[in-house]
Amino acid sequence: MTEQKITYDVVVVGAGPSGLATAIHLKQLCKKNNHDLSVCVLEKGAHVGAHILSGAVFDPNALTQLIPNWQTMAEPPPYFTPVTKDKLWYLTSKRAWTLPHLPGMANRHHYIISLGALCVWLARQAEQLGVDIFPGTAASQLLFDQHDRVCGIQTNPVGLDSQDQPTARYQAGIPIYSKQLVLAEGCRGSLSEQVIAHFQLRSSLPTYGLGLKEQWTVNNAYHQPGLVLHTVGWPLDRQTYGGAFIYHHQNHQLSVGLIVGLDYPNPYLDPFEELQKFKTHPAVRSFFTNGERIGYGARAIHEGGFQSIPQLSFPGGLLVGDAAGFLNVYQIKGSHNAIYSGIIAGQSLFKQLQAHTSPLPADDYYQQIKQQPFWRSLYLTRNIRPGFKYGLWPGLIHAAVDTLCLRGRAPWTLTHRIDHLVTRPARHDTPKQYPDPDYTLTFDKLSSIHLAHINHEANQPCHLKLRQPDLAIAINHRFYQSPETRYCPANVYEIVDHQGIPRLQINAQNCIHCKTCDIKDPKQNITWVPPEGGHGPNYINL
Ligand SMILES: Cc1cc2nc3c(=O)[nH]c(=O)nc-3n(C[C@H](O)[C@H](O)[C@H](O)COP(=O)(O)OP(=O)(O)OC[C@H]3O[C@@H](n4cnc5c(N)ncnc54)[C@H](O)[C@@H]3O)c2cc1C
Ligand code: SF4
Repeated sequence: MTEQKITYDVVVVGAGPSGLATAIHLKQLCKKNNHDLSVCVLEKGAHVGAHILSGAVFDPNALTQLIPNWQTMAEPPPYFTPVTKDKLWYLTSKRAWTLPHLPGMANRHHYIISLGALCVWLARQAEQLGVDIFPGTAASQLLFDQHDRVCGIQTNPVGLDSQDQPTARYQAGIPIYSKQLVLAEGCRGSLSEQVIAHFQLRSSLPTYGLGLKEQWTVNNAYHQPGLVLHTVGWPLDRQTYGGAFIYHHQNHQLSVGLIVGLDYPNPYLDPFEELQKFKTHPAVRSFFTNGERIGYGARAIHEGGFQSIPQLSFPGGLLVGDAAGFLNVYQIKGSHNAIYSGIIAGQSLFKQLQAHTSPLPADDYYQQIKQQPFWRSLYLTRNIRPGFKYGLWPGLIHAAVDTLCLRGRAPWTLTHRIDHLVTRPARHDTPKQYPDPDYTLTFDKLSSIHLAHINHEANQPCHLKLRQPDLAIAINHRFYQSPETRYCPANVYEIVDHQGIPRLQINAQNCIHCKTCDIKDPKQNITWVPPEGGHGPNYINL
């Protein structure tokens, strides 16, 4: 990309399942209708998949709709393990009780996959259809025309030092112009949130979770390829929504993770330490016998569901996948909805660009999305997540009544708690004690981020912006005992003693782009902006 002015019919920001499905379907329609459109996909990770982190149990129907012959292709997507057993447990500190699956929760005919590997495969399909994919390219700003319509993006400049001074490797950011911009940045996308705020697309704020994941190789008699295990309860307290998962892959690997709802009140809670604790439970620790941890990462997850989906299109573009909030938290799945929304976005954009009608007939994309079964499913499960704001047991009972008796048709819609407002001042709690790591089953954050293979130019400008730097001590430290030092899963935030005065140190080079600080800071004082393209974690098949 050396040209200073680059124009595409469609620019897609984000090479996750939603962005790649959009690009693939657009090009499929071009081929079918003999009408060419230029399409590119920008990805901030050094390579496609580098920033993708998911469970992942995958519902393949959306993939079949996008690429019907995916199973019989000469090179089908790798690492697909059919689900053979599907368990749900309630844990206390010593025991595990089996719970029944509620309707729509079970994972029949699904696969355990690496979503990162699937995205690499999808990117290959996209390139074969003529999509230009630019990894290592972070879209950092929206471009507007004189009518306040989005007309493209600006990429990040590369090679600025921490004083915003150009260094020897300096390269200015590049504007990339689009007839239509597709924001496929996933959960809490920075441009997506800007567009939502600018055009006031959202009427109800979402809630989020933080998902942490480790990948292990294991060689023991307890490994059961195809086993999907979800748990609720211990180690999380009853005021904290969340649960753990263990997925057994075919290739002697397993994925273990914990998702913690960010509307938790106790500022001393440390999601990373809760995951470490989870692995020590007597009912699961044997799975890790003779095992070696080979991967680690974390990513925020959109738990807002139906009531916090914003308007889906804006002048000059639209939102797909988790950027629009299509994850179904009840099913703990979003990648199939990401692909479905990409397919619909592709159809809608093709219709518009082929007919040269601008803007798109009002809200064609929204109207089509509303016809999809996944939209109905999001509607019918909308009250389940907010039901847990009353605690674990009331939440479970409410979920059972809502699904079994009301079948999702309650005449009300519950609202979410606002994550950053729920955190209570530290004086109401006592510090949580977590056991020391044994470096066999349990670990600390620093040795963990080593497995995220982070690449980050140390002297580039800090991409974690404090609106008011003094609040870090005056509010966060004084009233909340600096919760960012605990919720951040990568040890980015540290309180250091500076001649007897506490000071916040930001180790931005450790950041794994989970976006939690952008969500959970009590005063919304931290803004995450994309760092230089190609930086951040380099996940391998997460
Ligand atoms: C711990 C965890 C477990 C999960 N488990 C499951 C599961 O079992 N099953 C399931 O179906 N779903 C699961 N999900 C959800 C699923 O991963 C998401 O729904 C899905 O990845 C959403 O796809 P997406 O394309 O919208 O966004 P993403 O997959 O997040 O992809 C977005 C891409 O855009 C890139 N990007 C973002 N901003 C920019 C920018 N400004 N410039 C350039 N590139 C950018 C990112 O680097 C990323 O590659 C899980 C999620 C988590 C965190
Ligand atoms: S600094 Fe923020 S975005 Fe980066 S890893 Fe920590 S919490 Fe996540």
